[in-house]
Amino acid sequence: MEQGFIDLLEKLSKNGNYDLEKIKKAYSFAEKMHSGQCRISGEPYISHPLAVASIVADLQLDTDSICAALLHDTLEDCCEMVDLPLIKKEFGSEIADIVDGVTKLIHIPFETKQEESIENLRKMFLAMSKDLRVIFIKLADRLHNMRTLSFRSPEKQRSIALETMHVYAPLAHRLGIQRIKQELEMLALGYLDPIGFEEVKKDTEKRFGESKDFLDKATLKVEEGLREYGVKFKLEGRIKSIYSIYKKMYNQNKSFNEIYDFYAMRILVDTELDCYTVLGIIHERFNSIPGRFKDFISTPKPNLYRSLHTTVMGKEGIPFEVQIRTWDMHTVAEYGLAAHWKYKSGEQAKAMIDQKLQWIRTLLETEKDTDDPDEFFRPLKIDLFEDEIFVFTPKGDVVNLPNGSTPIDFAYAIHSAVGNKMVGAKINGNIVTIDSILETGQIVEILTSASSKGPSRDWLKIVRSGEAKNKIRQFFKREMRTENIVVGKLEIERELKRYGRSFSEAQKNEIVKNLTNRIGLPEPDDLYNNIGYGGMSVSKIAVKLRDEFNRVVQPAEPDDIEETNLVEKTARHDRKGRSNSESVIIDSVEGCSVKFAKCCNPLPGDSIIGFITRGFGVSIHKYECTNAQSGLKRVEDKDRWVVASWSDKIEKNVYGSFEAVLNIYAIYTPKLITEVSVALGDMKVAVTSISTRENAGEMVITVGVKCSGIEHLKSIMVGLRKIKNIRDITRGNK
Ligand code: MN
Repeated sequence: MEQGFIDLLEKLSKNGNYDLEKIKKAYSFAEKMHSGQCRISGEPYISHPLAVASIVADLQLDTDSICAALLHDTLEDCCEMVDLPLIKKEFGSEIADIVDGVTKLIHIPFETKQEESIENLRKMFLAMSKDLRVIFIKLADRLHNMRTLSFRSPEKQRSIALETMHVYAPLAHRLGIQRIKQELEMLALGYLDPIGFEEVKKDTEKRFGESKDFLDKATLKVEEGLREYGVKFKLEGRIKSIYSIYKKMYNQNKSFNEIYDFYAMRILVDTELDCYTVLGIIHERFNSIPGRFKDFISTPKPNLYRSLHTTVMGKEGIPFEVQIRTWDMHTVAEYGLAAHWKYKSGEQAKAMIDQKLQWIRTLLETEKDTDDPDEFFRPLKIDLFEDEIFVFTPKGDVVNLPNGSTPIDFAYAIHSAVGNKMVGAKINGNIVTIDSILETGQIVEILTSASSKGPSRDWLKIVRSGEAKNKIRQFFKREMRTENIVVGKLEIERELKRYGRSFSEAQKNEIVKNLTNRIGLPEPDDLYNNIGYGGMSVSKIAVKLRDEFNRVVQPAEPDDIEETNLVEKTARHDRKGRSNSESVIIDSVEGCSVKFAKCCNPLPGDSIIGFITRGFGVSIHKYECTNAQSGLKRVEDKDRWVVASWSDKIEKNVYGSFEAVLNIYAIYTPKLITEVSVALGDMKVAVTSISTRENAGEMVITVGVKCSGIEHLKSIMVGLRKIKNIRDITRGNK
């Protein structure tokens, strides 16, 4: 056994509760898989995962994290021998998921980017790490790579150091791991500005030597006071980090000698009460500088940092900062969120993670920290991106879009000209329909053609982002006046026909003329154009139109409204008696009753659209439902389609009460149906129907299940795919 591993085991047995057998197994596995591979330094490769595991152990993470750290490079670097199922088989899905998460992060192309896109990359990084442990391991990985960066080429050193400074150090900061943050910054600075770094380092050491006397005196004076009051404490006097001094010089354009504010004293005590006692003692003995006292004990920073800060004036007129905190607070200050990581196994750990995330979320929402707004904690979101997605351009730039966005939204986010000339799209290299829903991490490419005549009006119903909507409307407004007028005329005519009385062409023209004047538009064509390009909806002007109609056309029989159309028929078949108003939010319509169209069975997580039926509330369809798609094309129903989205209250109210249908395609075996039922039973899935048929020598099992949403359904599908002989599973209609 290598010495490094013996040291690791020793460290772990000091820290307490670890499954050392499991860790030994992970080590031997990694060692075997990496055998023959070397680091650029010439060391055997296993030294790297070992060092990463050791850093992870310092963070006091759990057994699974240590194992995952040991295995973290096996998927990427030993791919002929190792795959995810193998790790899962050997170490369980918890560890496999973490290793997979760490591996996926390798492919985020952090390079030299604008600050704005770097922020997006950081968010994407967090969005892709569903488990905080993935980030901790990734940080440990980066820390070791930075420690051994001297072996890389100068270009690599620069780009890795830059990425460290822009992405990893801020992440460590957000997670409150000051120890890693500071080391990363110091190492990165050494490569990014070696001369400046050396200068500040030399000056700092020199100053420290010269001012030893000052610090000693101040320390003595503080110690005296603390003893007098009988406080148990540990005191350390120090100079602030090289990077923070460097940054201050750079940001404030000062020379080293102009920096005064770089002495700091840290006092560690046993209890919170002691913290305030110490503060009192300090303020009694030194003049404090106004505005520099911060109580992060009563109001912790969102990254959980707690401490008292004050800056006081020493004898020689030199200010120094004092940080006062308990030992517990100190551990959190050094290790951040990781320090709060108390481990339990399996489900409990999951619940714990959720709870932590919830906690961060709450902290975020109440956060109004103005201490250091630029650097500090713009939203830390892990899995908190329900409303946003992040996708790549083929060049690796990140585009941020609302959840549910399509390639059309993406195209318009790039440029109007790209959207207007769009004829198709690729996701991760595969051609897709332009209304496909994008997911975080995908690479999206837009296919354009110079001969494209521009966007289709239907796109307005498909796109999610306001930007795309506006740009499409702009296109129609500018480019398509003639066509818009035709469409506008058609829509007005249809609306007039709904009133159920016949009218002449002259009457129609009079109505529209009056209406145009009333609205204040120059001429009827402008009204038609506005309606045609979607800038004005018929429903908005319907009252006035009706008004003018009644004035011009004499009343006849009562209205006779035609009531049938395909979509509405579908709506009537909706499941009865269920109130789902709580689960879906309808734009622009309040308090309406909501039903789910049976033709497509939308599930929470699906992209949806609502259709206002006459008298039956709003019927909810999936976006891609064929009925919805053909319905959307009918101009006369244009205003009855409404934007709908899933409410976030949904889990609580209708948990597990949605129905979905799965088509399972498999090679026939006599045990297959039993296996499927058993698997569903094991997953505690309620089955509502099951039937089988044969299709071209293949067995097709159609099974109805209850689920809470698309994510739940996906997990059911994943569970079923484990059964041998199952070739494919698709979501079906009823
Ligand atoms: Mn690595």
